[in-house]
Amino acid sequence: MADQGQENFRDTIGTLNEEGKRAWVFPKKPSGKWYEYRKYVSYALLLILFSAPFIKINGNQFMMFNILERRFNIFGFPFWPQDFYLFVIMMIIGVVFVIFFTVAFGRLFCGWICPQTIFMEMIFRRIEYWIDGDRGKQIRLAKMPWNAEKIRKRVLKWSIFFIISFLIANIFLAYLIGSDELIRYITDGPSQHGSTLISLMIFTGVFYFIFAWFREQVCIIVCPYGRLQGALLDNKSIIVAYDHKRGEKEEGRAKFKKKEDRPASGKGDCIDCSACVHVCPTGIDIRNGTQLECVNCTACIDACDHMMEAVYLPKGLIRYTSEDNIEKGEKFKLTPRLKGYIVVLGILTAVLIGMLFLRNDVEASILRLPGQLYEHKADNIISNVYTYKLVNKTVEPIDSITFRLKSHKGTIKLVSNTSVTVPEAGLTQGTLFIEINASAIKTDKERLEIEIMSGDQVIETTTTAFLGPRSYN
Ligand code: SF4
Ligand code: SF4
Repeated sequence: MADQGQENFRDTIGTLNEEGKRAWVFPKKPSGKWYEYRKYVSYALLLILFSAPFIKINGNQFMMFNILERRFNIFGFPFWPQDFYLFVIMMIIGVVFVIFFTVAFGRLFCGWICPQTIFMEMIFRRIEYWIDGDRGKQIRLAKMPWNAEKIRKRVLKWSIFFIISFLIANIFLAYLIGSDELIRYITDGPSQHGSTLISLMIFTGVFYFIFAWFREQVCIIVCPYGRLQGALLDNKSIIVAYDHKRGEKEEGRAKFKKKEDRPASGKGDCIDCSACVHVCPTGIDIRNGTQLECVNCTACIDACDHMMEAVYLPKGLIRYTSEDNIEKGEKFKLTPRLKGYIVVLGILTAVLIGMLFLRNDVEASILRLPGQLYEHKADNIISNVYTYKLVNKTVEPIDSITFRLKSHKGTIKLVSNTSVTVPEAGLTQGTLFIEINASAIKTDKERLEIEIMSGDQVIETTTTAFLGPRSYN
């Protein structure tokens, strides 16, 4: 751990120099066991990310977040504006899960699953290594005057970055408006959908800006999750950490001299090679302890393991561990705080499952026409006028829909037809009259129960109010 004299790293962030200007990070290309694992995970996640809007389950897009129409599909399960309460519960479960996961395993999400890290480290950064070379070559290229080589490399890199940003923007749009719409826009041609093309170019510009220039600053400055770490992590959380007890020992860290016997020397196992610093994509020194900038990407674990192997010391000087494990040798265990999160998660999940089972395929609402009173007709009949709205959440049209009064004797008359059809994943609305004999009305505001039928089958039951004169009974 850094002592008081070494605490000046806290005065600045790794991406700013002493003048407050951007200090460009040139991380060394990582290699090693953890980087290989992360590559495989990223391939799987990229495949899911790029294919999810094009996969359909029962005709529903696998993942869709149509914010404009407030329609969401999650794992092929459609959520309508009427299901918003379910969506909110899912969001709460997501937040509690993230908190639980962070308390237990720190920023594992950032290093392994976050799209920002995956795009940056597994796509854009690797293209950069391919075109510009590793850290040393990149630094030389940055300092180079604008000669033919630099222009060629920059134009090539920025063009590829732009094309990938455009591709990501298209996928992003497929999540927002649906892949069918996106394909239709593409086949219609950009001239027919000018405003969508402008949105697409804005998204492309944002992605290009993030991955070509803003980069690790997203995690350090913008991401609210990163900022929460101070509140969520405790000494028992598993994080990427430097074992300062082993690394420093009594004599502190020191450069490695040929043929020295480090274990017998009293010096720490850290050979002060800076490999962990050079490989860090956020430009920090993990040996200073847990820092806001660390996205737990594991690159420093691999780098340090290489060095430990080279000097015949045990690997794991930097590793996944907790502060309490380093200080007291304590193993990971479920704390009361974690158990509390598990209980809350279990309750919320049970509530969600229950609500999903209770959810109907058809949602109906019947509301009295605003500003209209009841009408007293011949044969002592009281009539109220309503607007109805039927939402079909399935991918098949529902036809022959009629309405039946369940709570009272009376009739329901649809205006302009006798039955209605609701298209797949669509809604139908219209006007209807409910007529009830005054003798069947007990109050001036009756609560009616109405069944919505498809053929002989009741597909939904709803309620509405029925107004009548005061003096009945
Ligand atoms: S300190 Fe290590 S784990 Fe954290 S961001 Fe840097 S390289 Fe990745
Ligand atoms: S890579 Fe390992 S040995 Fe080298 S400076 Fe970092 S912690 Fe020390």
